[in-house]
Amino acid sequence: QRALEREAAQRPALTADGFKVEVAANIRDARDAREAVAAGAEAVGLLRSEFLFRDRAEAPSEDAQTGAYGACAEALGPGRKLVVRTLDVGGDKPLAYQPLPREENPFLGLRGVRVSLDRPELFRAQLRALLRAAPLGDLHIMFPMVATLEELRAAKALLAEEAGAQYPAVKVGAMIEVPSAALIADALAREVDFLSIGTNDLTQYCLAMDRGHPKLAKQADGLHPAVLRLIALTVEAAHRHGKWVGVCGGLASDPLALPALLGLGVDELSVDIPAIGAVKVRLSRLVRAECVALARELLTLSTATEVRARLASVAD
Ligand code: PEP
Ligand code: MG
Repeated sequence: QRALEREAAQRPALTADGFKVEVAANIRDARDAREAVAAGAEAVGLLRSEFLFRDRAEAPSEDAQTGAYGACAEALGPGRKLVVRTLDVGGDKPLAYQPLPREENPFLGLRGVRVSLDRPELFRAQLRALLRAAPLGDLHIMFPMVATLEELRAAKALLAEEAGAQYPAVKVGAMIEVPSAALIADALAREVDFLSIGTNDLTQYCLAMDRGHPKLAKQADGLHPAVLRLIALTVEAAHRHGKWVGVCGGLASDPLALPALLGLGVDELSVDIPAIGAVKVRLSRLVRAECVALARELLTLSTATEVRARLASVAD
């Protein structure tokens, strides 16, 4: 199986009926980028830029950020897109030099793009660094934790201001990781180039179960039919507007979930580096038309247990 995965990893991901699904990697830095390419990643669907900002005394300078994003783009080489997520802190991710207010419910407070909009100077420096690094590759910018159209528009407005007439346009996307974003995916899709579903947070907010809670971990299941319905809404909305849609949450790395995601019409799976080979092997054995029918059936089920049982019955 290992040898099979190594071999499959080096070929483009195709289903048994010849349908193309992009298999991308989730990374933190240029070292990961090189590792991802060696492991067969066709792109990077999620660069978690907060890793650049953590474990240090002050924010990385604009120049240091430009260098770091540029190094990732160069490590990927031509033909592989790099989706950089802007700073995603707050909730479970603290920042020493940007103390966030103590909040009763940090997961419902200043998190993700809300922190960036609250600290525009920090955000603008990151956006400038991204614009400067963009010519070194196929760089896309993605905003985390978007819950409203106003948040997306505010983030895009700052990007447009920083780009001015000086920088060429960069592709922009929104993460779908809050149920409200999935429910208004139609409005969001109209104003971005792509959407990427963060199933870790989407599951947490959909089921109101802390993603790290030791007693709830098993029930906080991305294969819950409520989460699948939010994914379905998102994919339909993106495709109605001719935009591509990815999944970059942990669900994309779960072999059991693949037929469901393929059947729901997801265009890109961004997975942990060690999962790339296994995801490609599994995809090569799936028939898309069958997965579409299966996904339609899964959407009518009522519990995650039922979804898992149905998916296990088709597992190879
Ligand atoms: C997610 O929420 O699914 C996601 C990809 O973002 P993170 O895990 O970094 O919060
Ligand atoms: Mg998230």
